[in-house]
Amino acid sequence: MLDLLLKNCTVFDQTAAGQKMDVAVHQGHVTQIADSITEPARRLLDLDGRLLVPGFVESHMHLDLALMNDDVQEPGRDHFFTSPTELNAAMLNRRRTFTRESIAERAGRALDLATRHGITALRAQCHVDPEVGLTHLEGLLDAREKYQSRIDLQIVTFPQLGLADRPDIQDLMRAAFKSGADVMGCASNLDPVAQDAEGIRQHIDTAFDLAMQAGVDLDAHADLGLPRRVGLEDLEVVHLARRTIANGYQGRVAAGHVCALDSADPQTAIAAIDLIREAQISVISQPDMYRLGRADQQGVRRGLTRVRQLLQAGVNVTFASNNVRDAYRPLGNLNLLEEGLILSYGAFMDAREDLQTLLRMCTFNAAKALRLPNYGIYPGSQADLVVLNANCASEAIARQAEKLYIFKNGALIAANWQKSELY
Ligand SMILES: [Zn+2]
Repeated sequence: MLDLLLKNCTVFDQTAAGQKMDVAVHQGHVTQIADSITEPARRLLDLDGRLLVPGFVESHMHLDLALMNDDVQEPGRDHFFTSPTELNAAMLNRRRTFTRESIAERAGRALDLATRHGITALRAQCHVDPEVGLTHLEGLLDAREKYQSRIDLQIVTFPQLGLADRPDIQDLMRAAFKSGADVMGCASNLDPVAQDAEGIRQHIDTAFDLAMQAGVDLDAHADLGLPRRVGLEDLEVVHLARRTIANGYQGRVAAGHVCALDSADPQTAIAAIDLIREAQISVISQPDMYRLGRADQQGVRRGLTRVRQLLQAGVNVTFASNNVRDAYRPLGNLNLLEEGLILSYGAFMDAREDLQTLLRMCTFNAAKALRLPNYGIYPGSQADLVVLNANCASEAIARQAEKLYIFKNGALIAANWQKSELY
């Protein structure tokens, strides 16, 4: 007897419009996809043509900070800010009150939210530096253990107080990998050494060395600034790409934000994108658009990377929630359909084909960035599945489809029903 049988599914990316298939699940895996499966099952659902997608994948999210604003204020900021530096300073101040327990508790609530929205895998950024030591990591490891049946969690070490020229911090990173961190992170804008192009390269090179020593992937915050003009050699992602190729790390590096690419002239952008593709770097766009361009008086910049152009060039591009109701961004629901809708406006992606691409970006492309094994919907894939109340991908994004049922390893872990009545 099957564990689960889903009848009459529109399988995302596999079946043509109107073609309904049955999907069988047993012992945590999809076992068969066919026109008609009649084997008995412990749980049987008729999807009536609704869309079945693999679990959503959140590829860049600051889980150790998530929901910290829920405790202290109503949704929204208490004042307008113009400089991201102000946000960094406020954050360093606020985190002094954090404990391992409080981080685990907030992360747990955030993971509940993620589950409700169909996220079955998440890559979390985690502060690691001499001030907090491994406290944030310990909090996230506690949450990972508690929620392991619902979500696959990868943890990225994210240095806040420098990295290059700091053997003590480098030792801390090594200790983090021994404790259970999965991926090396970096952000040159937070490193005092990285005041010029040489310093930025030094920061990235140090992060790369640590990643390679530990045998882990690298996930960089790259090009967070938005200068008016930028040359090829000024782009962090270009150095990252060259190092990736030189180190034979193709396919193992992700770059988040990459905003400054938008400031490059078209020819420079083409050269940079060619390198990104050659290095097989996954680009993680952040559609939150909250940090940059706030002080602009004319031609207001939005701090988005060149999403369409990267996609057209064949780069693996995804998008993510980044900050969720924390000191940086008071908004966000860990809902990738919502972030996808924001990106559809921000990146001018509203053709039907674009909407399909957006759904692919937060599922298949994100899974590729995280190198998740057995991801997708095929015989043998891990049965992380979401039933959407939509018949096609464009409807899922455009109408913000409800996630009716969410399965992790074939087990039902969440269900949502909204009620709306007209009188
Ligand atoms: Zn980030």
